[in-house]
Amino acid sequence: MKDGGMQQKLRSEAKALLEQGKVDYIIGFEAGSLKFTTTPLITSDKDDIDRLVINPFIVNNLSVYLSELKGRAGIVVKGCDSRSIVSLLQDNKVARENVVILGVPCSGIIDLGKVEKLVGKDRDEIDDIIQDRDRVVITVDENRREFPIREVLFDNCLGCELPTPQEYDILLGELTSAASDEDKIASQKKINSLKNIPPEQRWEFWRSEFDRCIRCYACRNICPACFCDRCFVEETEPPWVLPVPRWQDNLVFQVIRNMHVAGRCTDCGECERACPVNIPLRSLTREMYDMVDELFHYKAGMDKEASSFLAAYEATDVEDFIR
Ligand code: SF4
Ligand code: SF4
Ligand code: SF4
Repeated sequence: MKDGGMQQKLRSEAKALLEQGKVDYIIGFEAGSLKFTTTPLITSDKDDIDRLVINPFIVNNLSVYLSELKGRAGIVVKGCDSRSIVSLLQDNKVARENVVILGVPCSGIIDLGKVEKLVGKDRDEIDDIIQDRDRVVITVDENRREFPIREVLFDNCLGCELPTPQEYDILLGELTSAASDEDKIASQKKINSLKNIPPEQRWEFWRSEFDRCIRCYACRNICPACFCDRCFVEETEPPWVLPVPRWQDNLVFQVIRNMHVAGRCTDCGECERACPVNIPLRSLTREMYDMVDELFHYKAGMDKEASSFLAAYEATDVEDFIR
């Protein structure tokens, strides 16, 4: 089913959920104020439902709102977002009976930065971007150009393992398949090029990247796996980091954040996308995701009945300190 068909189904299902009193509000996407963008829409008014959209720009992982909102919610999720909900269920941050999951089988989200590079134009100069299965048609000054969709997807989408939601109540379209091995490798190119440079050079790379961090906390605030009521960076007795964004403290913030989201991060890519200074945060989060998988055979958000990764141990665990 195409996005238009899914959008229609979403609107009728969401309206029915509100009318029948099965949910108190709907969390979805509406068109953004800028071209080719969407913005979260949280509403309990059924007259707002016709504003809901599904298109290749529904980028946010809306599950981030679930641990803050009270009541019953109908929520629109893609594959990675649904895994974030499962992870929140495992951590008892969300009760399953309080959510109705409207699942979007996902074909990947378009990275406007890649589109701009590809056509050499700013997004304001682009007339149209249309996804048509595995192609994207970009129109600039009435010139239509076609490219393989893989050239404009976010890296995490290019290598997506589970684009169809893991957990849902209503599936809005047909199942979508995982990325090919070739695309999975391509999606890790940026990360691997960093892994393959000597440690001193890599240290220098991160030192200069974190020199640019302004500690806005967008990466933390947008992340559904970062849900502590009080983040360690706000502790004052003792302070873990200074409030001024020195590179050393910025690095400590990011290293500890990565440890806190280990086994909870679903590689949704939102932290990297939200960073206003374009620090390649996925090179850290995806690395942690792969280490957890390799060492513990665990991927976040796959099984709501399983124990939360960081809240469980077994006598057979390799670390002695745990016995
Ligand atoms: S990572 Fe997968 S499920 Fe998530 S937005 Fe990208 S393609 Fe969709
Ligand atoms: S989003 Fe970027 S600039 Fe803001 S705190 Fe995170 S790493 Fe730093
Ligand atoms: S750490 Fe980044 S990629 Fe992982 S769940 Fe949070 S926002 Fe998504």
